[in-house]
Amino acid sequence: MNYVFNPAPLVSVPIVGTQDRFPVHRVYCVARNYEEHAREMGFPSNEPPFFFLKPTDALLVVDAGTQGTLPYPSLTHNLHHEVELVVAIGKGGKNIAASEAHQHIYGYAVGLDMTRRDLQNEMKKQGRPWCIAKAFDLGAPIGPITAADLADDLSNAEIFLQVNGQPRQRSRVANMIWNAAHVIEHLSRAWELQAGDLIYTGTPEGVGPVVAGDTLQAGVTGLTPITVTIT
Ligand code: MN
Repeated sequence: MNYVFNPAPLVSVPIVGTQDRFPVHRVYCVARNYEEHAREMGFPSNEPPFFFLKPTDALLVVDAGTQGTLPYPSLTHNLHHEVELVVAIGKGGKNIAASEAHQHIYGYAVGLDMTRRDLQNEMKKQGRPWCIAKAFDLGAPIGPITAADLADDLSNAEIFLQVNGQPRQRSRVANMIWNAAHVIEHLSRAWELQAGDLIYTGTPEGVGPVVAGDTLQAGVTGLTPITVTIT
């Protein structure tokens, strides 16, 4: 059997401490998962988690010790940073109980849920989907994955982002409204999770704009940080 053109290469993410790579299936994202961020966006923080997806090939994979480059995307005049803890699924399943969720986690990484905020606000106003605001090319930078059994306990880790060395976001993973286990419980009711899925678990407060020339440094204590320059 021949394809009518060459298929796109499989997207994969490096794994800390090995040459092996994590082959990516889907990229799920959780919205409004930190109380202070929900509030800064003008929403209550007592809702069940809700989700959107980014295309797998929208990942901007940043290898350890390198910098990612994100050309300022089209159509927007208000590109925002959102630093997020990313959960990498190593074993699929549906209707996964929170108490069993750890068995499905391969590891963790630092990610950026880049957002064309002006387009998102316009879509919200019109009751339209967020795709154009969230699912654009290279809109999901991600750093190397640390295997869960090699990672420190992240439950109270700091999550932070600086732009040109200036602090913009700083919080703790413990401030997530829905922790990783509960996110997996909710998500796996709606979709059958598969090995290779990535889950961006939401951003803390302090989101804001970046412009061409800015350098973003983002991290979660215990994980490989990432650096991305906007060009
Ligand atoms: Mn987000």
